[in-house]
Amino acid sequence: MSSFDYDLFVIGGGSGGVRAARVAAALGKRVAIAEEYRFGGTCVIRGCVPKKLFVYASQYSEHFEDADGYGWRVPPARFDWNALLAAKDREIARLEGIYRRNVESSGARILDTRAELVDRHMVRLVEDGRIITADQILIATGGRPSPHPALKGHEYCITSNEAFHLATLPKAIMIGGGGYIAVEFANIFHGLGVETTLVYRGVEILNRFDDDLRAGLHEAMENKGIEIVCRAVAEEVARREDGRLDVKLSNGETRIVDQFMLAMGRSPNTEGLGLEAAGVETSATGAIVVDCYSHTSVENIWAIGDVTDRMQLTPMAIHEAMSFVETAFGGNPTAPDHDLVATAVFSQPEIGTVGLAEHEAAKALEEIEVYHAAFRPMRNTLSGRNEKMLMKLIVDAASRKVVGAHIMGPDAGEMAQLLGISLKAGVTKDDFDRTMAVHPTAAEELVTMYQPSYRVRKGDMKPRDRE
Ligand code: NDP
Repeated sequence: MSSFDYDLFVIGGGSGGVRAARVAAALGKRVAIAEEYRFGGTCVIRGCVPKKLFVYASQYSEHFEDADGYGWRVPPARFDWNALLAAKDREIARLEGIYRRNVESSGARILDTRAELVDRHMVRLVEDGRIITADQILIATGGRPSPHPALKGHEYCITSNEAFHLATLPKAIMIGGGGYIAVEFANIFHGLGVETTLVYRGVEILNRFDDDLRAGLHEAMENKGIEIVCRAVAEEVARREDGRLDVKLSNGETRIVDQFMLAMGRSPNTEGLGLEAAGVETSATGAIVVDCYSHTSVENIWAIGDVTDRMQLTPMAIHEAMSFVETAFGGNPTAPDHDLVATAVFSQPEIGTVGLAEHEAAKALEEIEVYHAAFRPMRNTLSGRNEKMLMKLIVDAASRKVVGAHIMGPDAGEMAQLLGISLKAGVTKDDFDRTMAVHPTAAEELVTMYQPSYRVRKGDMKPRDRE
């Protein structure tokens, strides 16, 4: 029996920390897990889950509009923000309960307190000052929205954290940023009837995604009535006498809105954790530096998830947790696999993507074939909604391997999940061609694009106006 109180002490009860605690406890390890706020972390409490519930809520405005074309005469609908908040809070509380029960039933000890490192084997429980010792320590404290203190008037701004609890739904909102959170929340607020403006510093929203998806989503969002201002940033936010906000933009304009939401990246939660005392190295952005096995600079201390700023995605934190347990306790060093990760942006229309964007493939490969289809999905016919669906496959001409698949349109995220399996298995374009279509679906387009729309040879590509 080791002289430590626990074999493993986990700091942070989010998706990654909880998974590591449960799996290690199931192996018979003596495990404690400390969480200062609520079990479930960003994903469950103030991220993916409530966001997706808000996305569903915001889609009803278009469902009501579309119903008429299918013969449904819907009387004018009224949206009740407080009813949505209450329903969302009930669901989050239910999920939090499941998280807690799962940890308890695994045998791991729950500690409802902030925990800070004292040295490489000692942790102080802030609630009662107790010192606990552990052989191995895992830091899974996640991240939080960057507050952008350099922005004058940042104290008047909200982030996604507050967006889930606003006392009233704003009449007009401006969102700063052009990434996942900015785009998703712009569509949410617009769908709920809020006058919405997105302001982004770059030339096109969703940097690093395929150019056709970026341009396609921009156009679709503007057609809905969301204003997108590119090549601009907020320079100052000031509170007006009427309580609203003046947002001064770098392009010389000043806009009046009820809320300004910062969605300009997230920062790792490493402050005050005692990392220096324990000798754990952090990067310039404050993220914990780890090797390919999630090992920090200290032999018995590990870190996973957003606090390491590798790939800020819930499934990745869970995967890193499983790999950590396998490495630390399973006698089988396992590096998490960060390659070919499918992802979705829950914009409206939705985006689902896996693998290389066209510009990345064109740079990496000698010659690529691009298969491209833009069409009106069947559900938009009777409704009269003029929104196109976009599908794109990127194929390595030499090996015939599909190296990228990009979709914009209804259920794109669901499709990306399945495409992720195929691409991970090394599927070729010929496999797509001999796969029978499921008819009538939108996804059948993926297996019926027989001829390349165009080819790109290395050096031929005329890059669009990218940064
Ligand atoms: P992103 O990295 O996606 O986007 C950040 C945005 O802020 C970018 O448009 C970036 O511009 C801009 N930005 C950063 N710094 C500044 C600055 N100083 N001034 C002006 N603009 C700035 O981060 P998010 O905050 O949207 O989301 C965080 C992470 O959470 C994501 O990376 C993603 O991994 C994860 N997430 C995943 C979701 C999903 O899976 N559906 C949903 C929500 C979040 P630029 O592009 O020019 O750098």
